[in-house]
Amino acid sequence: MIRRDCPPKNAPSRRCRAAGPPCWRPGCPMRCRYCHNPDMWDPSLSGEMESDQVVSQVVRLKPYFGSEGGATLSGGEPLMQAPFALEILRGCQTHGIHTALDTCGFYLDDTVKHCLKHTDLVLLDIKHSDPGRHKALTGHHMDRLLRFIEYLAEQRSAVWVRHVVVPGWTDGEEDLRGLLSIARTMPGLEKVELLPYHRMARDKWQALGVPYPLGDTEPPSEERMQRLREIVSEEL
Ligand code: SF4
Repeated sequence: MIRRDCPPKNAPSRRCRAAGPPCWRPGCPMRCRYCHNPDMWDPSLSGEMESDQVVSQVVRLKPYFGSEGGATLSGGEPLMQAPFALEILRGCQTHGIHTALDTCGFYLDDTVKHCLKHTDLVLLDIKHSDPGRHKALTGHHMDRLLRFIEYLAEQRSAVWVRHVVVPGWTDGEEDLRGLLSIARTMPGLEKVELLPYHRMARDKWQALGVPYPLGDTEPPSEERMQRLREIVSEEL
C-alpha cells in the first residue's frame, strides 16, 4: 500500500508522496490486456490482514516518508474492498499521513465516496478515451469510469491521470487528445502522466497458463513517447 516510486503498476515517477514497502490490495473487476498483475485478479487468493495492522505498519514508517511522503493504496483495484480501503485511508489521515488512492474508477457507491473524502490525491488510470476501444482493451464499458470522473469533478478532487501507451491500442494522437479532453473536465487535475507499455507482464500471464492477449506487441519508441508528451504539454 505504500511505495516510493515506480512500482510495477506504473505509479507516478515524480513528486511521489509515498515511501516504504508496497502492499497491494488484490482483486480487480477489469481485465486489461496488458495487466501487470493478473495474479491479483482473484481476491480469494490473498492472505488476510486487518486494516489496523496495515495502518500500524504505515505509521511505523512515517519517519522515513520525508516531506513529500505518504501512503498509496493500490491493487488490483483497492475500491473492490472499499470498507477495508476506507479504514486504512481514514486511519492514515488520523495519523497525519498523506493518502493517495490508485484506482481505475470502476466503483462509486457511498462507501467509495467516503473513501474519497479521506483521499488527498487520486491516481486515476484511464485506459482509453474511445468507448469501443475501452471495452476491447479492458473488458468493460467506460460508463462507470465517466461517472467516477464526474464525481471527482464535482468534488474538485486532486487528480493525477495515468495512461499506459500501448502501440496499436492507445498511441494515436487523436485518442490522446480525446483522453485529455476527458481529463480536463476535472478542475482538480494536476497532471497527466504517460507510461510506456512494457512486456514484463507477459511472463506472468504465461505462468498462469493464460494466453497473453498482446502477443508480440513491442513497447513504444522514445520518439513516440516524446511526441505524445509534447501533446500533453501543449494541451493542458
Ligand atoms: S485495472 Fe489495473 S489491475 Fe485491473 S486489470 Fe487493469 S491493469 Fe490490471
